[in-house]
Amino acid sequence: MLDTAPNRPALPPEIARRRTFAIISHPDAGKTTLTEKFLLYGGAIQMAGQVRAKGEARRTRSDFMQMEKDRGISVSASAMSFDFKGFRFNLVDTPGHSDFSEDTYRTLTAVDAAVMVIDGAKGVESQTQKLFEVCRLRDLPILTFCNKMDRESRDTFEIIDEIQENLAIDVTPASWPIGVGRDFMGCYDLLRDRLELMDRADRNKVAESIEINGLDDPKLAEHVPAHLLEQLREEVEMARELLPALDPQSVLEGHMTPIWFGSAINSFGVKELMDGIGTYGPEPQPQQASPRQILPEETKVSGFVFKVQANMDPKHRDRVAFVRLASGHFKRGMKLLHVRSKKPMAVSNPVLFLASDRELAEEAWAGDIIGIPNHGQLRIGDTLTEGEQLRVTGIPSFAPELLQTVRAADPMKAKHLEKALMQFAEEGAAKVFKPSIGSGFIVGVVGALQFEVLASRIEMEYGLPVRFEPSQFTSARWVNGDKQAIDKFVTANKQHIAHDHDGDIVYLTRLQWDIDRIERDYPDLKLTATKEMM
Ligand code: GDP
Repeated sequence: MLDTAPNRPALPPEIARRRTFAIISHPDAGKTTLTEKFLLYGGAIQMAGQVRAKGEARRTRSDFMQMEKDRGISVSASAMSFDFKGFRFNLVDTPGHSDFSEDTYRTLTAVDAAVMVIDGAKGVESQTQKLFEVCRLRDLPILTFCNKMDRESRDTFEIIDEIQENLAIDVTPASWPIGVGRDFMGCYDLLRDRLELMDRADRNKVAESIEINGLDDPKLAEHVPAHLLEQLREEVEMARELLPALDPQSVLEGHMTPIWFGSAINSFGVKELMDGIGTYGPEPQPQQASPRQILPEETKVSGFVFKVQANMDPKHRDRVAFVRLASGHFKRGMKLLHVRSKKPMAVSNPVLFLASDRELAEEAWAGDIIGIPNHGQLRIGDTLTEGEQLRVTGIPSFAPELLQTVRAADPMKAKHLEKALMQFAEEGAAKVFKPSIGSGFIVGVVGALQFEVLASRIEMEYGLPVRFEPSQFTSARWVNGDKQAIDKFVTANKQHIAHDHDGDIVYLTRLQWDIDRIERDYPDLKLTATKEMM
């Protein structure tokens, strides 16, 4: 096992060896390819390419998935676990498309770190920037992988500068590329004084690693042509002068990101990145909760739902709640308290997402992600404990930015439609509002594409063709305040009032002016654009 830099010495070894993280990137930067190589080195798959192949087999199952494939986006997040050099990695996949930012945000509440993948020719792109901002809200440690170095890429200093400037984070090179584009031959490992040489002939071959005694070692000249060697020495000297040295504490605090250069498709630089995640990535971290924080080393088990995925298998109307364990040592069959309903819940068939397939989880530790099949009891934001009334906090629900009314093509099927909509609302796929006047439902989403996804899922999973139509409203706000003030407000604004799937009161409007006016006229009320899930 590598030396770790434990920032929580009290952790039992089983917990200390866990690294739970997500990959953030702009579409096309290489997230899927990198994931495949992680799994390859994690021993989870025999051959790279299986993630994609398997993904495609799954996708052909339905029109919805077909749509996902056509558009080249991945709509749902999943989790994968694999082992590497004594570490247990839990990789939580984030949906890549910007229309699914709420889902992505919640996914990032379940990880302790993020790997940021950028394309060496394109640098920091828009989606990377957005996702980075979300990570920053939680001071998540970030490790950076600059991919596609086998192609024409930007100057190394320029890439590092751009990250420092755009993301306002210190960048420290963990490796340094040798040669550009066609001439790219590998990297100098600055952390361990090694030469890593890429093999262009065999994409799945692990790079040749040559131990070097510093940049003046004559051995270097045996492997690196003179002009590239000269350039390497100059650049590294400059980098050491101009760029900050690696400070593990600063990495853990989210102020500094180490950057590795590589080529995922050529399996190059990936192992060094994985070593980096193990060495500099954080162990499972404390979880904010009310009325007290939860520490991973606590012996009692606790966890929270950050995602619900319905109908993973359309034949069985099952739902899987993705639970991040916040503390303790979980064993299959355990009875846990479902804090929201105050009911016990026997977790008899939890699923571990071992990369090769779903598998029954016999045990799991703080930091792990388990899937709990259920019939709808578990919702996003729910906490499970061994009895204590704890509630994990900080998992938000955002006000939708787009609203449309939805109707079943067959008016006799309105009840059916309600059931389907409630399920999607609980899954977190959309907000559903029932207006207090009139019939029908208003559906709110963050990105327009979600309407299409919903329509095709309702048709596929419930056999119910539906129509989305423009709504007279464009904004939704949750109404908070004491009961008397709310009652008065509701009576006076009936045409604008609806209830969300939890029964909470929502104010719908098309004018920002209305919202400002209400805040002025009803000083006892608060209209909010987020609501904490509970
Ligand atoms: P994602 O959208 O971020 O998941 O990106 P993919 O992993 O699907 O990669 C996007 C494209 O870039 C694919 O055609 C990959 O084959 C290609 N690609 C990924 N890594 C590399 C790399 O290191 N070098 C080159 N030249 N192409 C790569």
